[in-house]
Amino acid sequence: MTDTKKVNLLGLSPTKLIEFFESIGEKKFRATQVMKWIHQKGAESFDEMTDVSKALRAKLETICEIRAPEVVSQNISKDGTRKWIIRTEGGKNDCVETVLIPDGDRATLCVSSQVGCSLDCSFCSTGKQGFNRNLTPAEIIGQVWIAIKSFGPMDPNGPRRVTNVVMMGMGEPLMNFEPVVDAMILMMHDNAYGLSKRRVTLSTSGVVPKIYELIKRTDVSLAISLHAPNNPLRDELVPINRKYPIAELLEACQHYLANLPDKRHITIEYTLMSGVNDNEEQAHELAELLKDLECKINLIPFNPFPHSGYEKPSNNRTRRFQKILADAGYTVTVRTTRGDDIDAACGQLVGDFHDKTRRSQKYIELREVSQ
Ligand code: SAH
Ligand code: SF4
Repeated sequence: MTDTKKVNLLGLSPTKLIEFFESIGEKKFRATQVMKWIHQKGAESFDEMTDVSKALRAKLETICEIRAPEVVSQNISKDGTRKWIIRTEGGKNDCVETVLIPDGDRATLCVSSQVGCSLDCSFCSTGKQGFNRNLTPAEIIGQVWIAIKSFGPMDPNGPRRVTNVVMMGMGEPLMNFEPVVDAMILMMHDNAYGLSKRRVTLSTSGVVPKIYELIKRTDVSLAISLHAPNNPLRDELVPINRKYPIAELLEACQHYLANLPDKRHITIEYTLMSGVNDNEEQAHELAELLKDLECKINLIPFNPFPHSGYEKPSNNRTRRFQKILADAGYTVTVRTTRGDDIDAACGQLVGDFHDKTRRSQKYIELREVSQ
């Protein structure tokens, strides 16, 4: 089939789209036109592109395509949370999940970057699954495209369906660097989704050299999955710490902040596990550790999954941990076990997609129950 050889324009960054049009002997501005059609008007075929000449449309038809990943299931809860199971090109079980969480006039999309993950954090079910494959740029930006299109025809002048993106779904985004960067550039580009750089956040468990690369390429916001206030414990929970210990990670964060064009903070994510990293001493140690970093702390009570070996702490314990940090002067938020907590659920997908569908349903129900 010639189809498989067609270039998928959905995932091409603005620069690559221009290069593509130049490579087929067309002018640069065609790339801008086509980019707007795809990402702002949701065009799925070249026929729709009425300001592109018929001859060019016919030419594009033969050599390229606009192909989003396949949606296996879509769940829309009463409160507006939307979840999709998306099948990637790897095979029938290579699925990832995307979640849209509305919150007042904001709507945050939690996007996946890999099927599985190689970094094997001890409390993460994506990690338990091992690494399957990297998503392509089209599969990453396709999650944004699918989420927006789920509201009906795309309208660049209509209400914004997605205001924030967090790369907190399955996978470690910095281990799939180029495709993730290309997709994030599209998310922020004026001729595509036009999201504010403050509202696109990449979450990493600490692939330090790539943090230095990232700031050369984009200026998205950064979240760090820290989870421990010292190296011995972090070595156990987040094995990549053995390669890039906490001091190196925090230095990379300082470098990142110093090289942003505006003043911003790092988000520190800390998953609380009962009896593991949630005692008072550890809270004080964390407060001391982060004292020189411009940051906000997001506490995530552990989301249980079968055979994890961990438990979530009681609300009292969580609040005590939060209070110690707040008293030390930090802004600390707690993700409660409701729909808000769905970001964490993104990080804990496992098994085949039937399993995931049940899990989605569970979180949707959880949210509804808590309303
Ligand atoms: N790989 C990236 C992004 C995906 S994980 C990272 O690690 O940052 C998104 C977030 O969910 C991370 O902070 C991760 O530590 C957290 N997470 C993973 N499993 C979890 C679980 N079972 N309970 C609570 N948070 C979890
Ligand atoms: Fe990978 Fe993030 Fe899970 Fe760690 S927490 S295994 S880096 S997805």
